[in-house]
Amino acid sequence: MLDGQTLARTMQEEIRPEVAAFTSQHGRPPGLGIVLVGDNPASEVYVRNKLKAGADVGFRADLERLPASASLAETIALVERLNRSDAHDGILVQSPLPKAMGPGAEQRVFDAIAPEKDVDGLTPVNVGLLVQKRAILVACTPSGIIELLDREQIPIAGRHAVVIGRSDIVGKPMALLLLHRDATVTVCHSRTPDLSDVCRRADILIAAVGRAGLVTRDFVKPGATVVDVGMNKVTDPAVAQSLFADGHPRLALFRSKGSVLVGDVHPEVAESAGALTPVPGGVGPLTITMLMRNTLRAARARVRVA
Ligand code: NAD
Repeated sequence: MLDGQTLARTMQEEIRPEVAAFTSQHGRPPGLGIVLVGDNPASEVYVRNKLKAGADVGFRADLERLPASASLAETIALVERLNRSDAHDGILVQSPLPKAMGPGAEQRVFDAIAPEKDVDGLTPVNVGLLVQKRAILVACTPSGIIELLDREQIPIAGRHAVVIGRSDIVGKPMALLLLHRDATVTVCHSRTPDLSDVCRRADILIAAVGRAGLVTRDFVKPGATVVDVGMNKVTDPAVAQSLFADGHPRLALFRSKGSVLVGDVHPEVAESAGALTPVPGGVGPLTITMLMRNTLRAARARVRVA
């Protein structure tokens, strides 16, 4: 099991003195502004964790809230205010934005973020720099996965990496980072035929789909490294039963709570994979740590330019 939780803690301890040094040198801490529109319960939890992690390492971390009824123009105006703010080095707009804001709203709001403050690496400028292998701010989840593979000394160069999922926030930047590290990369998605056959050729398999237990044992070459990005809340007893054998502590948890958080990788994969990230406690904590690292990078780059 690849322990993302422990690595996240180690990295936060590494970041903390760097934040303190920045603060004493520049008379202010690095600042992160998080925009939350509406009251999506999952987003509330993610944002709370990000604010707490920011405060823990010594950042100024501000939550900027708008009601679910906020318009696209109001949301963009808030982002523009943070763009102009001297106290904020990083801006994160929590996804998803309310559906009522209309199709394409999210892209327009992300596009409004100043690229030098874009700590999620989602603006066209930062995506372009990533394609050209010269990005400073890269999407947090994929860069956390590279950090985990490196620190666990799992070789990437020359390996066949298969990424399932092609989203802008995980799948695509993940494929690019692996390519830049000299992996041979295959990207799979919802229209890929013979998915399990393709995945079985992977030395490194990254699952970023959002489907509980999609990756079963027949997807995985014995000994392969499997990274599970999925975060799926299972509430259906039949699904929970299909994932966990009777007597499994996670099934007991499901029965007492009525839900359980699982990844895209079926727990049976633990028996044949060489290395596997758990859910929870794998990729999730690293994502937050990389957000801290990106904010510190953005802060340093801003004071260098100023
Ligand atoms: P998304 O919905 O934007 O993308 C999912 C991708 O999966 C799409 O590209 C789609 O083509 C592909 N897909 C859908 N069904 C498929 C199938 N049956 N077979 C193969 N491919 C299929 O999702 P996302 O934002 O990339 O997130 C993916 C998962 O990762 C979600 O569960 C999300 O909650 C989780 N996530 C976790 C973290 C973390 O920090 N741990 C961060 C971001 C996302």
